Amino acid sequence: MANGLREENIRRIIALEDRISDCRRCPEQLHCVRRPAMGKGELAPEVLIVFEGENQYTGDFNWIIEMRNLLKHYLGVEKIYHTFMIRCTPKTCSARHSAFCYTTSKLLDRDHNCILTKKPCNGVPIKSDTVQILNCLAYLIEEIDILNPHFVLLMGERVSEFVLRSYGFYDSPKPGQIYVYNQRHLISAVNEQAFDENECQKLKPAFSA
Ligand code: SF4
Repeated sequence: MANGLREENIRRIIALEDRISDCRRCPEQLHCVRRPAMGKGELAPEVLIVFEGENQYTGDFNWIIEMRNLLKHYLGVEKIYHTFMIRCTPKTCSARHSAFCYTTSKLLDRDHNCILTKKPCNGVPIKSDTVQILNCLAYLIEEIDILNPHFVLLMGERVSEFVLRSYGFYDSPKPGQIYVYNQRHLISAVNEQAFDENECQKLKPAFSA
């Protein structure tokens, strides 16, 4: 990648991340999120992985490295970037509900302690609703456009459905299915919970197409 283009990509990704950090489209979800989830990895990726949101797998650095190694080993890709469809994963929180908390401010301090309980956050991550997904999806599509990967790996049924619909594909995708949009290969896969060596190998035909 030419230096000028790389610098331009860095500038556009930083500008995107600034907008995501300031985003208030889903006020209900912001209390228990210290910082929205951001993409990480190569800025000129061959493959861009899309997870639904942050969870015990995607938040585990070792798990991410392991997954990347599987892709490198079985699918022959080297440059990998991963990102999220939902930046602010919603949580249920008994402390917030029992305190009848109506504030729109964040309730986590810099150390991820809850300002209501003065203890580490024990909110339980839950699934985002359709409104939140639609609020956030534009950031992902913009990120894909900036980084322009050849392959986009969609982790799980929900991610596959929402992202594919954004590109005009309305099927119910099966793992390993490929959709081509402007020479970009969108590949549906199982979610991170079910992803293992075996599932990775099943994607080989899609990555050699
Ligand atoms: S989930 Fe996305 S759209 Fe909603 S507040 Fe966070 S960054 Fe904004």
